[in-house]
Amino acid sequence: MIKVSQPFLPPKEEYNEYISKLWETKWLTNNGDYVTTLETQLRNYLGVPACLFVSNGTVAMQLAINALGISKKVITTPFSFIATTTSILWQKCDPVFVDIKPETLCIDEKKIEDSITEDTEAILATHVFGIPCNVEAIERIAVKYSLKVIYDAAHAFGVTYNEQSLLQYGDISTISFHSTKLFHTIEGGGVSCNNTSFQKELYALRQFGMIEGEHVMPGINAKNSEFHAAMGLCNLNYVDEVITYRKMLSHAYDSTFNKYESIIRPAIPANVEYNYSYYPIILSDENVLLDVQNHLYRKGIETKRYFYPSLNKIDYLSHKTICPISEDISKRILCLPLHTDINTEDVEFIANIIVEIIHEEIRAVNPIS
Ligand SMILES: *Cc1c(COP(=O)(O)O)cnc(C)c1O
Repeated sequence: MIKVSQPFLPPKEEYNEYISKLWETKWLTNNGDYVTTLETQLRNYLGVPACLFVSNGTVAMQLAINALGISKKVITTPFSFIATTTSILWQKCDPVFVDIKPETLCIDEKKIEDSITEDTEAILATHVFGIPCNVEAIERIAVKYSLKVIYDAAHAFGVTYNEQSLLQYGDISTISFHSTKLFHTIEGGGVSCNNTSFQKELYALRQFGMIEGEHVMPGINAKNSEFHAAMGLCNLNYVDEVITYRKMLSHAYDSTFNKYESIIRPAIPANVEYNYSYYPIILSDENVLLDVQNHLYRKGIETKRYFYPSLNKIDYLSHKTICPISEDISKRILCLPLHTDINTEDVEFIANIIVEIIHEEIRAVNPIS
């Protein structure tokens, strides 16, 4: 079976070397050497003033919402992973969905202002598949209405915009280092922010609200361990190679799909250095998608409907909004295998199967061609 994603793993000996030292120091967690070293290395690699290493990307968002003192309405995107919405709900805030742009799949900045009310305190938007939101327009809106901005940058590891890290935009950006992500620490996440007063707050919130033994605010335990940090330290040495490899695979998909108008790819805006974190295709409708997915599955190829469903449609939400573009795209977007355990022949094999199915669909609709 070709899986849709597979974690990159460093050579076992490299990880073991880090881990055996822990049997000597017995310092397993609570901001040990590996955690602080990883934080320094991430800060340098990503080019951000600070990157706190936390237990996962979801708690990273909860810390961000908490640190910014948000308690009412949060404008957010319906096209993201469920955690973007649940972290808002878990903080007892109200998500307000604003539809997305069909080209980049990110929140439509032109539709944000219409949804702002007196109770709106923040915007929590996702850089979907590592494609940047319109960060300048969102910044202008935030300044005009005194809103805080959090970016769910779970997919955006290593992405730069105008030659600076995408994580530098907004008040706080959060990232996931889960095993399915481009760069991983098994489980893990990061919180990046430019404002030093929030940095201190986040640092305290991560460890029970304590600073140097003093209880300064009600916090949580969002720390991560030396074992997880060690995986990060190993993987960071390979991440450039991993990105280059995934870029090559993505281009191999592109070279087949470019010829077909019925296979749509999201657009990467100008001035973006992309990270090739996912390979989504948008098909003409849900039936074609299901057909493609089933055919591939029978040939031993796993794909993923990501993201589906549109988050504004989740049953447990108290008030429902309509987001036609997100609802439409979530029904016909499919992520294809992209990881370091496949090669260009695999990609060509997968791409050709898809193209064949699309040809058949076209013939079925229009028998003469
Ligand atoms: C993976 C992901 C998260 C959650 O990250 P975890 O580390 O699994 O908690 C949040 N948002 C998006 C967009 C994601 O893809």
